[in-house]
Amino acid sequence: MNVEHADVVVIGSGIVGLAHAYAAARKGMEVVVLERSAAARGASIRNFGLIWPVGQPAGAMLEMALRSREIWLDVLEQTSLPHWRTGSLHLAYRADEETVGREFADLGVKLGYTCQWMEPSGVTSLSDAANPEGLRGALYSTTEMTVDPRAAMAKLPAFLTERYGVDFRFSTPALAVRGGRVETSRGSWNADHILICCGHDLESLYPAELEQAGLQFCKLQMMRTFQQPDGWLLGPALAGGLTMRYYPSFEICGNLGALRQRITAQMRGYERWGIHVMVSQTMQGEVTIGDSHEYGSSVDVFDKPEIDELILDYLHAMARFPILEIAQRWHGVYARHPNEPYVRLRPEAGVEIVTGLGGAGMTLSFGLAEKTIEAMG
Ligand SMILES: Cc1cc2nc3c(=O)[nH]c(=O)nc-3n(C[C@H](O)[C@H](O)[C@H](O)COP(=O)(O)OP(=O)(O)OC[C@H]3O[C@@H](n4cnc5c(N)ncnc54)[C@H](O)[C@@H]3O)c2cc1C
Repeated sequence: MNVEHADVVVIGSGIVGLAHAYAAARKGMEVVVLERSAAARGASIRNFGLIWPVGQPAGAMLEMALRSREIWLDVLEQTSLPHWRTGSLHLAYRADEETVGREFADLGVKLGYTCQWMEPSGVTSLSDAANPEGLRGALYSTTEMTVDPRAAMAKLPAFLTERYGVDFRFSTPALAVRGGRVETSRGSWNADHILICCGHDLESLYPAELEQAGLQFCKLQMMRTFQQPDGWLLGPALAGGLTMRYYPSFEICGNLGALRQRITAQMRGYERWGIHVMVSQTMQGEVTIGDSHEYGSSVDVFDKPEIDELILDYLHAMARFPILEIAQRWHGVYARHPNEPYVRLRPEAGVEIVTGLGGAGMTLSFGLAEKTIEAMG
């Protein structure tokens, strides 16, 4: 069987694999990316495309998200991939949401977030989509942006090949990794460094090490509307009060406990399915809506219409679009660690596994990849 050589073999062409291929290639290394499918088809093409620093806890993770955003901007410019640099609004319709939003705005600025509390008139001047009825204001942050995940995952491999000579091998599953060698169904590679970026496939390569790492699966249901009328723009990406209990950044707020208690007591379906509602816009003008969070050691292959209904009920109270009709529904899965923002393992010399970025892989990958490659020396 054919044996080839590369400085670095990256396994998986989701955003984590692509970001690592980019970081290694920019250091002058010869990089091969092996992807099981004919194109990436995991979480990286199923998400909102939101780069969401405001969700990261202050300190190292916020810094990583902001660095990642900088690299995204550089890559987007080099590839001419369209994107929205609109920031985000966490809309408040309840007193406890307003209290948490105001508290975050006060504390956040000192911790490195670029955010402010905005009164309803300011919110509606920024966003045609925010429902003005009952609106008490919003936390406005300027650092969030939206990329088109399907377009980005399709275009980045060609860009990496043309600009940095990265060699992509699609339809090439890695079957085993051992002693600096990767075995695939289409030959073997010897490499100085092997980076395993296989997303939520925790069963194929180093399953014992991954099991011990304590990762779990999370399944999310998503929807997308038909294209909105020409010229209609979402403006800032939208989130609501439910989102404040989801991202760890809001833990700085002493008032978060009361908001959580109200949701637990009064919104049982939302609590049960881990629902919070976020909205982004694609470059073609559709609106992407999600999502739910079903955690566990296995993934239910069947979707639950009840979850979509809960998401849409909440959405209709917080946002208005010219076209609400749903054109697409799908689910995505990612791996996450209950306490860590990501998992990086070295099961043997020269091999790194990078996974478990949970709901922040688009936000963190480029920053994390830079750190992985630095640590590799
Ligand atoms: C519905 C949803 C919404 C989300 N929204 C956001 C968001 O807006 N912002 C944000 O920051 N994050 C978001 N996330 C999280 C983000 O999408 C993930 O953290 C990220 O995509 C994970 O990337 P990955 O490369 O690890 O995995 P994946 O994208 O799943 O890629 C892994 C790749 O590895 C390949 N592979 C696996 N095993 C092998 C093998 N043995 N050989 C070869 N190839 C292999 C797979 O085919 C796959 O293409 C969302 C996730 C979901 C599911």
